[in-house]
Amino acid sequence: MKRNYPLLAAMLMLVIAIGSCSNNRKQATEADENARPDVVPASVVVPAFNADSAYRYVKEQVDFGPRVPNTAAHRACGDYLINKLRQFSAQVHVQEADLVAYDNTILKARNIIGSFNPDNRRRILLCAHWDSRPYADEERNKKKQKEPILGANDGASGVGVLLEMARLMQQQAPTIGVDIIFFDAEDYGIPSFHKGAYKADTWCLGSQYWGRVPHVQGYNARYGILLDMVGGRGATFYREGFSQRTAPEQVKKIWDTAQRLGFGSFFPQADGMEVTDDHIYVYERTRIPCVDIINYQPDSDSGFGDFWHTHQDNMDVIDRATLNAVGRTVMEVVYNEK
Ligand SMILES: [Zn+2]
Repeated sequence: MKRNYPLLAAMLMLVIAIGSCSNNRKQATEADENARPDVVPASVVVPAFNADSAYRYVKEQVDFGPRVPNTAAHRACGDYLINKLRQFSAQVHVQEADLVAYDNTILKARNIIGSFNPDNRRRILLCAHWDSRPYADEERNKKKQKEPILGANDGASGVGVLLEMARLMQQQAPTIGVDIIFFDAEDYGIPSFHKGAYKADTWCLGSQYWGRVPHVQGYNARYGILLDMVGGRGATFYREGFSQRTAPEQVKKIWDTAQRLGFGSFFPQADGMEVTDDHIYVYERTRIPCVDIINYQPDSDSGFGDFWHTHQDNMDVIDRATLNAVGRTVMEVVYNEK
């Protein structure tokens, strides 16, 4: 993923927001009434997210090496993910596609989808990208910029959290149907050292494909949650800009849940930057609102943290406490959906 500068989009949304101001006020009043302390919702038993287990799933992916499309490690890791989802009794769909990269390389890509409770029409979508970046283009050492990265945080962490959730859903299914999608070819976007002309839409190739051809015809879900870089030590998940504009209710629900569970230091109630990531294509192509939970480090140059798109993105940056905060928050949200 990369940083996005959505000035024009923000201006457009402002016009829409002004137009729908009175409507927002009405919704706010209803929300306030729902939040009255004397209205206690029936409690749901949420299975305990195991951060050690999630950590192991992150490491098992990283142990394959960089998961760059068209490599043996990528192929092997994709097979591992399919087997894991089958082991957890998901109905598995594998979307194979030849996707064209910014430099016209044909990427042999696979979106890997595991559906739980597939007959339930009320569904949520949980997603992460499973490929890792072919370049360390943010490395200071220019000689190392063309080498692929391990992507422990950028890629494997989100998938690790979702595999742990899949394990728990097999043991105790949530009320709602859930589709877990591991998108491929998210991180093959145009590198900073590229000399040719800029090309749009070179990131998120797997989700762009899925948006055109969903795994189920006419696929719909109430909303989606995208996990990206959710395992870093000291991570902070500010409210990402595109999610705020297109899925504000879901952002509020997730961030409020995190506060309630005591994870406010990981989920500050503050706005972060806007990023180009899979949630944009999910929303633009299917109109399913999708929230990106993504690390934002205001004090780093890129905004993503100093490890981002460098060789530092290895198991050393992964912290079970972060995986736990994200995993428990998303579990709480999913299991409370009726
Ligand atoms: Zn990336």
